[in-house]
Amino acid sequence: MTHKKMSPADYIAREEKYGAHNYHPLPVVLEKGEGIYVWDVEGKRYFDFLSAYSAVNQGHCHPRIIQALNDQAQQLTLTSRAFYNNVLGEFEEYMTRYFGYDKVLPMNTGAEADETALKLCRRWGYDKKGIPENEAKIIVCADNFHGRTITIISMSTDPDSYKGFGPYTPGFVTVPYNDIDALTKALEDPHVAGFLVEPIQGEAGVYVPDEGYLRKAYDMCKAKNVLFMADEVQTGIARTGKLLACDHEGVKPDVLILGKAISGGVFPVSAVLANDDVMLVIKPGEHGSTYGGNPLGCKVAMAALDVIKDEKLAENAERLGKIFRDEMCSIKSDMIELVRGKGLLNAVAIKPKNGKTAWDVCMAMKENGVIAKPTHQHIIRFAPPLVISEEQLREAIDIIKKTLEQFA
Ligand code: PLP
Repeated sequence: MTHKKMSPADYIAREEKYGAHNYHPLPVVLEKGEGIYVWDVEGKRYFDFLSAYSAVNQGHCHPRIIQALNDQAQQLTLTSRAFYNNVLGEFEEYMTRYFGYDKVLPMNTGAEADETALKLCRRWGYDKKGIPENEAKIIVCADNFHGRTITIISMSTDPDSYKGFGPYTPGFVTVPYNDIDALTKALEDPHVAGFLVEPIQGEAGVYVPDEGYLRKAYDMCKAKNVLFMADEVQTGIARTGKLLACDHEGVKPDVLILGKAISGGVFPVSAVLANDDVMLVIKPGEHGSTYGGNPLGCKVAMAALDVIKDEKLAENAERLGKIFRDEMCSIKSDMIELVRGKGLLNAVAIKPKNGKTAWDVCMAMKENGVIAKPTHQHIIRFAPPLVISEEQLREAIDIIKKTLEQFA
């Protein structure tokens, strides 16, 4: 029996038929990745300018990370936390030294890490701050994105995220992002246990707050005995030109939330870091996950974080990010409304022209060999793997320029 080769349309139709329709992908079907490049099923090569929403900072299939995966996969993959294993402690020591905290709590996805932080914060509020039972509040920012669970969407101000999924989890107070006065006011409530913030709002469209915002917010939280919790799931791990985006302002969060690139896009690993006074409020049996802290993920994450330091990816992101923004600003196109970002987490806001939107620009870029995805209709996020060289970046920039000129 002969099998007809599947076309890209066949792959797309199959996903459409058998998969839930909870995403709207760009119509490109990928089958291979290496470094900054991905290839589709017809062998065409693209610059990946999304990096799986900043999970693939180390580049696709980084050989050191894949080696770690392969080595550990043949040894031991999962024990659950019912037993000790010989890798988890090594990972915990590694992580706490790497990020400078007393303790780490491993989970799998970003959303789970955020949920973990929320639980830690509430429990700390009751046990340490003395907030009356069930009265704890957590301040969050408008336009946040922390994931997709019911509690997390209860904090969302984006109807696409929350509408039709109620009833919602109570206990959250929303303030505008980048607004110290609003935060100051909200912090007056003695029942506030924590402030949860993205140092740059990635999903909202790469909103970079004013310089000094994080520092001031942190200081305000300290003054009110409130935990400052940074969701660095997207901004962390060298993406913005420092190991953590909070490092730009010398802020050390009380609770640090990590995911995505801590495992280089190879295996889901997330983590929450905090010092003992916070982390030890959770006792045995009160939180966990079957896969959280599994030896495979632990080995992968250690290799992925080694790569970040050894290949100086934060420095590369810092230097090349400036070039990227300068070059984007120099493009003469009336579709470019503004360019913003930090390191290699950047966005270009696109003004629709003759009915053509950011989606059409992304479709044309794809034809020309760069893939990126619009967020919130008019914003294109540009976030290549951090292993990109200046020469490769300039080649991709030429493609982006050429594409925008096509719309002139
Ligand atoms: N937090 C932030 C800041 C994110 O950008 C994301 C995902 O984009 C998440 C949390 C959720 O991570 P995950 O999709 O792994 O649950």
